[in-house]
Amino acid sequence: MNILVTGGAGYIGAHMTRYILRHGLRPVVLDNLVYGHRASLPEKTKFYRGDIADRRLVTKIIRKEKIDAVLHFSAYAYVGESVENPRKYYENNFSKTQKLLDTLLDNNVAHFIFSSTCATYGAPDVKKLHEKLPQNPINPYGFTKLAVEKMLADYSRAYGLQYAALRYFNAAGADDDGAIGEAHDPETHLIPLALQSILRPARQLKIFGTDYPTPDGTCVRDYVHVYDLAAAHLQALDYILKNKTSDCFNLGSENGYSVREIIKACEKVSGRKVNCLEAPRRAGDPAYLVADSSKARKILGWRPCYDLEKIIATAWNWEQNRRY
Ligand code: UDP
Repeated sequence: MNILVTGGAGYIGAHMTRYILRHGLRPVVLDNLVYGHRASLPEKTKFYRGDIADRRLVTKIIRKEKIDAVLHFSAYAYVGESVENPRKYYENNFSKTQKLLDTLLDNNVAHFIFSSTCATYGAPDVKKLHEKLPQNPINPYGFTKLAVEKMLADYSRAYGLQYAALRYFNAAGADDDGAIGEAHDPETHLIPLALQSILRPARQLKIFGTDYPTPDGTCVRDYVHVYDLAAAHLQALDYILKNKTSDCFNLGSENGYSVREIIKACEKVSGRKVNCLEAPRRAGDPAYLVADSSKARKILGWRPCYDLEKIIATAWNWEQNRRY
């Protein structure tokens, strides 16, 4: 099977690409390298540098590489930036995705796995988020992802597209061998920043908000390893292919950890102290986001394999030996 991975040189996309190779399928990566890293891809990976909205390029790739299905990772994902510059997000995450989808359908590629997000739910006041909750995003990033979900549902009804929208919770961790890992610029995510503050104590970690209505006052999130996410993509692809259907799934561990608990876990794994200080809340952060992923478990047979300590251990290994 030939699988087009858009954004395949990004953080989750690069892990997906390796996972596909390890499972005997053939990834073809399309990435514009705005945020992605060419070094994150194994030498032999078929790679195209370009834009998902470039109709000629995407058509050429589909025909030349005999693409059967598409895993669509390419998107901008900085929530704060999406508030400052929503145009960039609607254009890249929504408009370009529409152009990509149209090109796929015009070339009879009708199997599509979409990287969605728990940010499409907004900030609901529930213990665990399930797929039937209303989706009310609280920032443009979440809206762009929700808009694509709506478009997928309409395209599916009208044109027979078969898709899965996978709503990730907090993607984290790195390759077990340390070959690739998280490398955002700028980095905004908690686990890499906490580990970087251990390696370079001058980079103090700010704890954004200590007055949330949570057990220790800091935000609670559900962290899931990138290879567990990757596994769900192939399971979802298999599911939509076999059942000729479309659906959406939450992907989270169902375990919530506060910022302080993550800091403690980073200290335990590394054996060293995180240099941190308490800071005001970061705008747009919901207090508590934990998945109910029973649907993915039941329908796809998905089981996350990495617990928090394993997630952080892979991230720590990467941070100490980063190649890019
Ligand atoms: N966070 C923090 N300090 C940082 C980065 C993140 O306290 O330097 C907190 C953030 O407020 C959130 C949690 O850590 O509650 C996870 O944030 P991250 O950016 O990793 O993921 P998000 O949940 O925003 O997608």
